[in-house]
Amino acid sequence: MIKTISYLGLGTMGSGMATNLLKAGYELTVWNRNAEKCETLSRKGARVADTPTDAVREVDLIMYSLSNDQAVEEVVFGAKGILRGINQGQIAIDMSTVLPATSLREQEAYAKRGVDFLDAPVFGSKQESADAKLWIMAAGNKAIFEKVKPVLEHLGQTVHYFGKNGNAAAMKLVGNLIVALELEALAEGLVLAQKAGLDLNTVMKVVKVADFRSPLLVSNGRSILKRDFSTSFALKLMLKDAGLIEKFAESLSSPIPALRVAEKNLESAVALGFGKENASALIKALEREAGVEVKE
Ligand code: NAP
Repeated sequence: MIKTISYLGLGTMGSGMATNLLKAGYELTVWNRNAEKCETLSRKGARVADTPTDAVREVDLIMYSLSNDQAVEEVVFGAKGILRGINQGQIAIDMSTVLPATSLREQEAYAKRGVDFLDAPVFGSKQESADAKLWIMAAGNKAIFEKVKPVLEHLGQTVHYFGKNGNAAAMKLVGNLIVALELEALAEGLVLAQKAGLDLNTVMKVVKVADFRSPLLVSNGRSILKRDFSTSFALKLMLKDAGLIEKFAESLSSPIPALRVAEKNLESAVALGFGKENASALIKALEREAGVEVKE
């Protein structure tokens, strides 16, 4: 049974998950590159480690949620990385959004040390992470999945098993392809509605009930109308994911014409300086082009 856990990467997603692990009663060690982000959890009883190598010693399970493939490279494979401190019998779970090829590289490196590895990225954002309502996908050895499932169930409302390593990372990219296109569709639709002189509150009332409704369209549409771009999922992370989707789809010769359009608008919005705002700030690139501002 899992009793001791280390959580590395206390950003928007990791901080919520780590807090919920403490609440669930696990003995928790935390590490974050910027150590200040460990303070709240330290006050709540977590041990704070100085390096990833130090963080992972003698715990049952190591979990991490990091920005991108490069961060995983540093935290897992780096000079003070996880691989320097981890030992046979321990389990590692990468909850970041990364290329499936990165998950496979991690799995191989861990296997050489006798460590089991799952890729387990998540859907949901800041609120779902804080509320333990994430939608989690996991891939890797089935017996290991069954062993850690009770832990994942403390973080999410659903946990889906996807088979061999890399498949959960692939599913995350499939989902984020849909997310990127929904955000692009919402932005284009709202700019057109504004240009057409429609009442935008009524537009959103229809979006909420019609057969094309989705929670993502409703929550982002409402925030856009209020000009609230506070970050749940940063625009720059959406752009990062668009790059991953592009690479992954190209490796499989799978067509992604619409994703390329969305990616161009994400790039424009980041170039305009909105990268740290919420991904819904994608609309600002279209607003610039259209000469309008979408608000209630
Ligand atoms: P975030 O708030 O930007 O946090 C990123 C974390 O990665 C921070 O702990 C950061 O440390 C760390 N990090 C970045 N570069 C690093 C490096 N080179 N070395 C060590 N640590 C590094 O991001 P997030 O929103 O929590 O997202 C985390 C992952 O979950 C990403 O892969 C993202 O795509 C995915 N995701 C996010 C959401 C969402 O809605 N936010 C939803 C699903 C999945 P510092 O604090 O020191 O910068």
